[in-house]
Parts: sequence; structure tokens; C-alpha cells
Amino acid sequence: MAQYDVIVIGAGPGGYVAAIRCAQLGLKTACVEGRETLGGTCLNVGCIPSKALLHASHQLHEAEHNFAAMGLKGKAPTVDWKQMLSYKDDVIGQNTKGIEFLFKKNKIDWIKGWASIPEAGKVKVGDETHDAKNIIIASGSVPASVPGADVEIDEKVVVTSTGALELPKVPKKMIVIGAGVIGLEMGSVYARLGAEVEVIEYLDAITPGMDAEVQRSLQKLLSKQGLKFTLGAAVSKVETKGGKATVTYKLRKDDSEQSAEADVVLVATGRKPYTDGLGLDALGIATTDRGQIKTDGHWQTSVKGIYAIGDAITGPMLAHKAEDEGMACAEVIAGKHGHVNYGVIPGVIYTWPEVASVGATEQELKNEGRAYKVGKFSFMGNGRAKAVFAGEGFVKILADKETDRILGCHIIGPSAGDLIHEVCVAMEYGGSAEDLALTCHAHPTFSEAVREAALACGDGPIHS
Ligand SMILES: Cc1cc2nc3c(=O)[nH]c(=O)nc-3n(C[C@H](O)[C@H](O)[C@H](O)COP(=O)(O)OP(=O)(O)OC[C@H]3O[C@@H](n4cnc5c(N)ncnc54)[C@H](O)[C@@H]3O)c2cc1C
Repeated sequence: MAQYDVIVIGAGPGGYVAAIRCAQLGLKTACVEGRETLGGTCLNVGCIPSKALLHASHQLHEAEHNFAAMGLKGKAPTVDWKQMLSYKDDVIGQNTKGIEFLFKKNKIDWIKGWASIPEAGKVKVGDETHDAKNIIIASGSVPASVPGADVEIDEKVVVTSTGALELPKVPKKMIVIGAGVIGLEMGSVYARLGAEVEVIEYLDAITPGMDAEVQRSLQKLLSKQGLKFTLGAAVSKVETKGGKATVTYKLRKDDSEQSAEADVVLVATGRKPYTDGLGLDALGIATTDRGQIKTDGHWQTSVKGIYAIGDAITGPMLAHKAEDEGMACAEVIAGKHGHVNYGVIPGVIYTWPEVASVGATEQELKNEGRAYKVGKFSFMGNGRAKAVFAGEGFVKILADKETDRILGCHIIGPSAGDLIHEVCVAMEYGGSAEDLALTCHAHPTFSEAVREAALACGDGPIHS
């Protein structure tokens, strides 16, 4: 049996990136994956397939709503759902095969099967036990159910995001429980494809934790696209009968019990770490009360030589956060200085328009009692945005009142998920709003709106 420097458990964005970086740093590396294909949740049933469906359904929306105005006349396309699913599967296949290629290129052994850790330094897969000087747990997460409610998920009528990516047909009516990122993205897909979509959310606002102004704007824009929102509603049960589901919920404002029926109910109330079968308890690996593996500043668990990264530990459940931890953890194991700046991890919602944010929200700065200023610019003042029917939305930059240092940025608008990164780079360098404002931005680009928001933190924007 080979002796490895590192065995990574899980080949999601945390695990596969950790494995590649370990190999690049000269460590003999293997990666164990229980799934048939590499890439984890992200490539198989998460980020990539959902973005494929968002892309396809957005094209339909454009054809139905904007083509005629641009002089593109004719019959709008109809939906061939089977073909759309096979396009999505093809995108998944290209990406997962890409990771297989990278494993081969970097001479990483892919050990197929489900791993457990009988003791530090050993990884068991099937009947074989492999030796490893270091183990990285990157076992990811699985969908969570509705807290305190009686809900049975059958992945047919009551589905998680995994089932929602594979529905046999576009439902007439879909209820989404939870107005977080996954719920709104999948809700958008089905609304664009013609389903009546109702989103039921426990809190009084959508996208919990986001900037309040962005929350309100996004709700308004998605409502215009046909999504119905029932907020402040605690779901107590979901019952299925005759291929339909009934959701019962209590409205918190008046305690009244209500119910709604749908062909499909998507439970999108978050995800929980997946560590089943690893043997954490027997090893004495400490976890939080939410089941996340506890790690120190170098991603080492309470057991020496066993590390953990990604969705299985604390922090935002995002692919890029997992990737950054994968790289940094590999560097620590190789004796280098791996580092993740948790203050600059962007979050993106791939609806139309997109939403992106990084750093503090205004509410957080207020709670901290920090003196700050706001620079805001509407996409209505951006020529390129108007040309592509994307004038709704804005860029909002929050900067320290005295030093002008950027503390946060919140964007709702076209390509927000790409625009946010110039702000991330500026924040990594401790940059000020003036630094952004003095940087020449190509015209006509959406990014000029970021510059204008930065100008609004100083002497004022030009185009508003
Ligand atoms: C619908 C959806 C959309 C999403 N969209 C985005 C997005 O747009 N952007 C974003 O940043 N994030 C998105 N996410 C979240 C993102 O997918 C996760 O944050 C990311 O995949 C976490 O990476 P990870 O490596 O920690 O774990 P995972 O990707 O969950 O991978 C863990 C892997 O470990 C394997 N495994 C577990 N236990 C064992 C074991 N004992 N032995 C062998 N293998 C094991 C699993 O089979 C799995 O393949 C989305 C998630 C969903 C569900």
C-alpha cells in the first residue's frame, strides 16, 4: 500500500483544489471520493448545473421580453425541457471530466469509494487501509430540512435543490421554502420557464444577512418577474397527496394558519455539514453544536495531522471559500504560510439582475458604531446598462468616514458577480474609495458604475 503525504477526503471544490495544490507543492497525494464523478456538490448538483439552467432560462426571458424592442421579431422559442436538462448534464460532464484531467496531470491518485478514518494517519476505503502523514477532510455538506417542521423529502414532489435540478417536467406551481440564494436562483429558473412560483420565508426579508436596500430592490425586481413572496411565515408541515403537496404555515404577524398547494415544493432552507461515516467521535474530533468540524487558524482539527476545510467547517458555505481554504491548508501542510482573508469573501446571487456583496453591510457598521460614508450610483446612469435593458439596480460602496478605506460593497445589477472583484482587490490592498475613483475604467462598461459609486464617496459622481 502506498504511503501518502496527504490523503484528501472529498473531491468538491475544497478537496480537489487542496489535492492539486498539495501535488504542485511536491507532496504525494491521493483524493478519496464516494460519488461516481469528481467535483463534489458544486460541479455535480450545485453551482454549475444551477448556473447552466439560469443561463438557458435567462435567454428565454430575453427572447420573450427584450428581443422585439431591439428589432428582433418572430416566434419566441419554446421550451424543450429534456434538451435543457441534457445541456445541463453536458456542462456538468465537461467540468467533472476537467477535474479528472487535472488529477492525472498532477499525478493525484483518485481512490474511489467512501472513506473513514480508523486512526490518525490512516484512511480506510472499502477493505483497504491507506497510510497518510496528513489527512484533509473536505466532505462538504448536504441539504438541511425545515427546522421544527414535519416535512418528508421524496425528491419527487417535495425536493431539495438536487431534485429541483432534475424535475421530470416544469411544474405548473412551485412553492419554494426559504428565500436564500438557492431558493431564489431555482425559483427564478422555474418562473422564467412558466411556473407559478411562491416563495415562503420565515424572516421578514429575503436573502438574510444581505444589505437591506439590496434585499428590498431584489424582492421588487423578482416580484416584477412573477415570483410571489410570503414573508414572516413559519412552515409547520408539508403533506403530499395524489402527486401534489400542501404547505401549512403560520403568519407571524397575526398567528393565522394558512396553507398553499403546489405540484412541487422546493425545500431551500440551507445546508448542513456532512461527516457521516468518517468516525469523528471515535477519533475525538471536536465539532460545533451545528455539526461543523472545529479547526484552528491553520485548519487543523483537534487531532494532530487531521485537517478540515470547506462546507464541513464553520464559515459561509461557498465554493470559493472552500477552494481558498483548500489552497491555504495545502500550503500549511507543505510548511508554507497559507492564509485566507475571511473579511473579503464575496457572495453572489445569480438571479437577473445579479446581486453581489463583499465586506460589511450598512446594518453591521451601524451596530458597530463605526463612522462611515455611502457612495451610491444607479445603473440608470450607466450607458451600457441602459443599452441592454439593465438600468435597474445600483452599486453601493461603504467607506470609513475618516480614512476613506473601503469597508463593504453591495451591487444589484448586470454582471454584479464579476464587478464585485475589483472592489475585493481594492479591499485586499486596504484601498480607499478614492483609489477606485482615480482608476481609469473603460467606457462603455458596467464597471463604470463601480467607479461612479466610488466617486460618490468623495466629490460626487459625474453621471447622476
Ligand atoms: C444548488 C446549489 C447551488 C450552489 N451555487 C453556488 C454558487 O453559485 N457559488 C458558490 O460559491 N457556492 C454555491 N453552492 C455551494 C457550493 O456548492 C458549496 O459551498 C461547495 O460545493 C462546498 O465545497 P466542499 O468541497 O466543501 O464540499 P462539496 O462540494 O460538498 O464536496 C464534498 C465531496 O465529498 C464527498 N464525500 C463526503 N464524505 C465522503 C467520504 N466519507 N468519503 C469519500 N467522499 C466523501 C462527497 O461525495 C462530495 O462529493 C451551491 C450549492 C447548491 C446546492
